[in-house]
Amino acid sequence: APIHLDYFCASIMDTIATVAKKKRITLHSDIPEELFVEADEDKLRQILINLLSNAVSYTPDGGKVELSVRDRQDAEGLEKIIFKVSDTGIGIPKKDQPRIFERFYRVDKARSRSSGGTGLGLSIVKHLVELHHGEISVESELGIGTTFTVELPMLQE
Ligand code: ATP
Ligand code: MG
Repeated sequence: APIHLDYFCASIMDTIATVAKKKRITLHSDIPEELFVEADEDKLRQILINLLSNAVSYTPDGGKVELSVRDRQDAEGLEKIIFKVSDTGIGIPKKDQPRIFERFYRVDKARSRSSGGTGLGLSIVKHLVELHHGEISVESELGIGTTFTVELPMLQE
């Protein structure tokens, strides 16, 4: 069944609200009403939760995390849904950006120690995005913040 994105994203934001609140991180979402995507609900939830948990983990206290959703037509006239997860966090050095989607890759032990992760989150995200014939990219600036963009075709065969 198609996923109604405004309800779906609101419930996902709810699940990370507790952790965000502990760090006094403000959550924003910008989701059009009446926008639907044909996707696997559990997989899409995992994609967004992994990205949003990273955003909250790698953003200092008092920062901001935002989820925005848009739709657009690509050059071939196919409709795509574009998810952006942005934060005002520590950023990812340019040289590490191509490797963060690899399994077990973490930018450095010192910065990651406090988050206690395994380095699997983004490799799972990439895998799930590819299962939907989608694409993922990252833009980031050290000390300024990071934006992950996920593009999924609105309809899948
Ligand atoms: P896990 O998600 O398995 O608990 P993890 O968060 O370390 O552990 P990934 O989610 O795969 O692993 O992320 C890989 C690395 O990319 C992280 O260790 C971190 O260094 C960097 N990273 C990911 N998201 C962000 C972000 N929003 N801001 C800054 N660095 C990030
Ligand atoms: Mg992670």
